[in-house]
Amino acid sequence: MNWENLKKNEKALPEDSMLADLYALSRKIKGTEVNTTVSCNSINGESPRNFSNQFFMNAFGQISFMSPGCKIGQCCFCSYGASDVKLTPEIVAKEMDKFKLTILEKQKQGQNIYSILLDSVGSILDYNEFPKECLDVVFEKLNELLDEIKNIQNVIFETHYQTLGSYDEKGNYVASNAIEKLIEFKNKHPEIGTFIIELGFETANSELRDTLLFKHLDDETYKKSVKLLKENGIEVDVNVMATLPFLSAKEQISQSSESILKALSPLSDNGYGIDCVTLFPLNVRKYTFCNYVFNAQEAYNKKHKACSPQWMKKDFPIWSMVATLNHLIEIGREDLLKKVSVAWFGGRGISKDNSEVYPRDWEETYDDFVLYRKNLSGENSRVNIIKRLAKHPKFIKFMEETMSENSTDLSYYDRAGYLHDLINEMNLPYTEESKCNAFE
Ligand code: SF4
Repeated sequence: MNWENLKKNEKALPEDSMLADLYALSRKIKGTEVNTTVSCNSINGESPRNFSNQFFMNAFGQISFMSPGCKIGQCCFCSYGASDVKLTPEIVAKEMDKFKLTILEKQKQGQNIYSILLDSVGSILDYNEFPKECLDVVFEKLNELLDEIKNIQNVIFETHYQTLGSYDEKGNYVASNAIEKLIEFKNKHPEIGTFIIELGFETANSELRDTLLFKHLDDETYKKSVKLLKENGIEVDVNVMATLPFLSAKEQISQSSESILKALSPLSDNGYGIDCVTLFPLNVRKYTFCNYVFNAQEAYNKKHKACSPQWMKKDFPIWSMVATLNHLIEIGREDLLKKVSVAWFGGRGISKDNSEVYPRDWEETYDDFVLYRKNLSGENSRVNIIKRLAKHPKFIKFMEETMSENSTDLSYYDRAGYLHDLINEMNLPYTEESKCNAFE
């Protein structure tokens, strides 16, 4: 691997040279749904197919704008990279109108939508990615939508914590312009029950974030941004990953349950003061560092007739997510389940090759997790659903296997070193052209 070439012109890489290599490679590998759509279509002389996607489930609706992609663009599990899509206020207005029409149509068919989520391929509140004029149109059109559709109770924006505020010359943390606009909008809409900002978090373990996920978060600033939102009556929902890559199953369960506990603990108790958590399983997607190194491990195993280390298995069963939630019940914190939702997965047609996108056995839990999201009481309360799933023979088998795992004492940094050596030895290609193959 020509690491020096990879790092040329790359900014904000870690000081540690080995980690800098891995971060730079992750940036290069990254492609996006947008990227593959736009690049490949433009090669064929066609225009991009669409500028937003809409997803609906139960009472929830989402509009996800195609955009130039996340400016961080390096997290090992994420395929949100860069593209040449240019959003304009006119395009955004059209896409928002389409979203409203779909919700109205669903309403006519008896499906009322109570929660809407607005996001882009990264951060909808980042003006570099989603221009200020486009965000103005989002608020304008959202106003029209809320005027016409009276059922909506929750409005959610997904963004990166760095877009929420910054430090002024006196060192005070102040709201960004985008957040000021959101606060102003919120204050004009007291009829909306909750405005929520959804943030990436993944894990409360900063060493793990920095060495294996390539997702640096400044904990102090993160907590300040949470405080600022809450002071302005905006709730915060963070994404916690249930099946963290490069960990053994046992480690995954303890890391994700610990992260939930820390995220939901008050700021005064050294927690993050988060209102709610969305737990999600890892989808090993094409054009991510994760997928690249898992392929390298497979090639290595073939060449050397070897087995993957326990923490390097490309097997992410959905039972790990059940185990995390069940663990909260077992330690007497079942009260928290009311605040822990699960990301939806399955049935979204993101990839033609489903096995690459969804966690193993997702179908076995899908209906229960659809119910879980509704946060009902009685037989189908979240606690009862998890207790039920914990009796599933596949869950019992998964837990038996997990408990009999040998523990590893390899540090996160040494695991990153292992990945670096593996990449060097296998030297798999990560070419730009390979991104286009995804579209074939
Ligand atoms: S996980 Fe979030 S911050 Fe990281 S590259 Fe993806 S969109 Fe950007």
